[in-house]
This record gives sequence, structure tokens and C-alpha cells, in this order.
Amino acid sequence: MFEKILVANRGEIAMRIIRACRELNIKTVAVYSKADANSMHVQVADEAICIGDGPSSESYLRIDRLISAAEITDVDAIHPGYGFLSENAHFADVCESCNIRFIGPRSAAMNALHDKALSRNLAKKADVPTPPGSEGIVETEQEALTIAKRIGYPIMVKAVAGGGGRGMRVAHNDVSLVKGYHTARTEAEKAFGNSGVYIEKFIENPHHIEFQILGDTRGNIIHLGERDCSIQRRNQKLIEETPSPLLARKEFKDLRKKMGRAALRIAEMAHYTNAGTVEFIVDDQGNFFFLEVNKRIQVEHPITEEVTGIDLVQQQILVAAGEKLSISQSDVHFRGHSIEVRINAEDPFQDFRPSPGRIEMYYAPGGAGVRLDSHAYAGYTIPPYYDSMIGKLITWGKDRTEAVNRMSRALSEYMITGVKTTIPFDQAILQDPDFRRGHYSTNFVEKLMSGARRELIQDKA
Ligand code: ADP
Ligand code: ADP
Ligand code: MG
Repeated sequence: MFEKILVANRGEIAMRIIRACRELNIKTVAVYSKADANSMHVQVADEAICIGDGPSSESYLRIDRLISAAEITDVDAIHPGYGFLSENAHFADVCESCNIRFIGPRSAAMNALHDKALSRNLAKKADVPTPPGSEGIVETEQEALTIAKRIGYPIMVKAVAGGGGRGMRVAHNDVSLVKGYHTARTEAEKAFGNSGVYIEKFIENPHHIEFQILGDTRGNIIHLGERDCSIQRRNQKLIEETPSPLLARKEFKDLRKKMGRAALRIAEMAHYTNAGTVEFIVDDQGNFFFLEVNKRIQVEHPITEEVTGIDLVQQQILVAAGEKLSISQSDVHFRGHSIEVRINAEDPFQDFRPSPGRIEMYYAPGGAGVRLDSHAYAGYTIPPYYDSMIGKLITWGKDRTEAVNRMSRALSEYMITGVKTTIPFDQAILQDPDFRRGHYSTNFVEKLMSGARRELIQDKA
């Protein structure tokens, strides 16, 4: 087993990884940028090393500095968290060649699933449906128009290297396709250093449903059920829950089983190890389509932990150390219902503009069934360089109603002053009658923000 792990990340996920290590009696090394000197992960780790200036290109993305820090502190392994270098196969290779274990899938699996157009082909081979679309990268505007003619509008132009909802455009006709094709390429080049795009049929009113998978290095692989992440703004998740209200419908009785098996077929085909997520979209008729594999621990992993009782970050560490999975598929049982709300330092009344700055007062909610994964505290200054998520509030209930009521109660206790947060907006979602009934798709937030319902949110300000 590892004795010491370096956490190549910041914020709440760095805290989460340090917690898992401590419970396994493993020492931790935090790395931080100059802008993160007062960050909580620096305080709670056993050792901490500054790796550069605020911008992530000067710190959290610097492979040379991370490896130097790992060698100086003599760690056995590096946990990359999510974002930053977590899905970078080159980084995984560099770690391994320096005799430092990378806590994540092997680089061969990462490479096989790296490009989203390539993963579509892998899914097809595994006999898993994908939205109709291009065979691979679409090289020219003319090719894009030809594919659109074949599959019919609306379509989506998507970056092969995309993530975090960026680099995608919906097109309803030839004119918007030509425009979207070029803007998606430019955005992708800027955000991911790769302008490659592919095309998919745009599925209307879809549900985003993903399956958590977990594999060891001896060929054992299981899934830990689904998460419904359809509450999104601009293709970015805001609220996630499990079990999915859609899959709970009587008419979709066998869908969960089918999707779970499909997720495992893809994982097996890629010889996947460690934790990962297979993402799907599902239409109103219960047709499901493969989207992509996230080759890392996911932001919303805690809700799976709450209903299964399995600590996913500890499992990542154990299988990376070469241990055999101690859980088989039949050992996985689901209990109750769990919801996660992402708390962002953004102003929901100013088009979700980031609101960095100093947190003045801070009171964290608690009580039965409430879990808070956060690095925030009173007096903490949120730096402007990174994403705006300052915490994840997670509730568990014996059923959906109890989990939702607890979330609403916990949100009402959560006091943060000095910066704006998305809490009032989250509360409005939780009060919405359609949300309460579990009737929503990925266009829920857009609908909520337009028309009469907007007033409801404004009133709550
Ligand atoms: P999740 O499904 O885990 O919520 P997200 O797509 O919301 O994943 O991304 C989680 C975090 O990782 C966010 O901070 C996001 O900005 C970042 N991220 C995701 N994909 C990429 C990528 N390809 N490049 C850089 N950052 C990314
Ligand atoms: P990212 O890498 O940014 O996470 P995904 O391919 O996972 O990109 O898509 C993110 C979100 O965009 C999905 O959850 C869904 O809401 C929307 N989306 C993606 N592809 C489609 C599609 N073909 N039809 C409809 N919505 C889509
Ligand atoms: Mg995705």
C-alpha cells in the first residue's frame, strides 16, 4: 500500500482526497499556487509545496513542477483529482516513468477514450447506441453540410477534446451550421489547444444519465448505478441526483439494467481500470445514446457514495496500488436517495458572473443526512484564476422527498456573505413543481429562467 500521496489539485477535491488518504493512514502532500497560499488543502495536508504563480498554466498544469515536488517529498503516487491534468495520458506516462503511480486509468485506456469522436467508434464496436453523426473529425464546412443533410437538423457540433460544456454549438439550418462549425473550432482551439470537431444529432429534451464504473488491474469491473445530471446550465451540471427519476418510471423498467450493462461493455472494451463515468443521454421514449467517458473521479461522485456506502476515492487508491476489487457487482446495494447541489461563487442575478473575493461570514449547514464537501471558510479569499465552485452540498434521504426537503433546509442554513453565490437560484430550482415531481430534462434551467418563473427567482433575491 502507498505510504504517501501527492494531491495534484486544489479546492474541494484536494480536501476530499486528503480525507480519503487520512482514513487509509496515508500521508499527503499538497501542492499550491501563490494565489492558493491560504487555501484549506494546504492547511490540512501533512506537507505542502508551492509550485508557481496563480494562473494554472504556471502551477497546476506544470508537469515538471509537479514531478519535482513528488520527487522531493518522495511520494509513492499522485492523485490528479478532476480537471487540470486528470485526463492527460502524457502526465500519467511521465508519472509511471518516474516510478510514481498515477491514480487513474492506465494511459492506454485514456488514449483509447481521449478523443470523443474515437470513443463513439469504440461504443459502436461495443454495440452501444450513439447519436447519429460523423464517423470522426469533420475536416471541412462542406463535409459538415453533407452530414447534416444525411442526419437532418437539429445537430450539434462538438469539440473532440471538449469538456465542461465548452466547444459545442447547436445548429438548426445550413446557415447556423456554417457559423457554429467555425465558432466551435475556434473555441475548442482556445480552450483545449485542439480545434477538431465532430457532429452529432441534437437529441431534443434529453436526460443526462451517467453510470459510475470501477475496475481493478486484474480485469474485474463493476458499475455503481446511475446519476441523473439533467439539471444543467449551458451544458454544465448544477444539480445531480441518484436514483434517476426518469429510470424510476414504470414504463422504463428494464432501462437501468440495459444502460448499466452497456456502460460495462464500453469499459471492458477499453480495458478500463480505476474509477470512471460513462455518460449517456436518454430521450423521452427511453432510447439511450452514449456521449463520452470521463476518465477520472467526477465532481458528483458523493451521491453515489451516499447511496452505496462505498468510498470511491479510497477505492481509486486501493486499485491503483494493485489491490483486487473487494466488491463484486452483487455486493452493490442501493439505499435511499441522494442529491448534490454545486455551490458556485457567481451572481445568479447578473448572468452568473463570477464573484471572487473575500468570504466574510461563513456558516456551514449540518444535521442528519447532510454532507458538505468544501474548502471554504470565513476570511478565505476566492482567487479569480480557477473555477467558481466553492462547495458541494449533498443530502441523503430514505426517499426522494426526504432528500429534497433536506436539501432545501440545508441550503436555507448555509450562510455566506462577502461574495455572491448560486444558493438563491438553487433554492428556486428546489421549489419548482416540476423539479419536485422529478419531471425535468436538460432544458429545465432555461425554461425556469425564461417567462413567468423568472419573477419567482427575482422575488427570492
Ligand atoms: P463533471 O462531470 O465531473 O462534473 P465537468 O465537465 O463539470 O465534469 O468538469 C469538472 C471540472 O473539470 C470542471 O472544473 C471543468 O472546468 C474541468 N474540466 C472538464 N473537462 C475539462 C477539459 N477537457 N479541460 C480542462 N478542464 C476540464
Ligand atoms: P462535456 O465533455 O462538455 O461534458 P458532453 O458530450 O458530455 O460534453 O455533453 C455535455 C452536455 O451537453 C450533455 O449533458 C447534454 O446536456 C448536452 N449534449 C451533448 N451532446 C448532446 C446531443 N447530441 N444532444 C443533445 N444534448 C447534448
Ligand atoms: Mg460530459
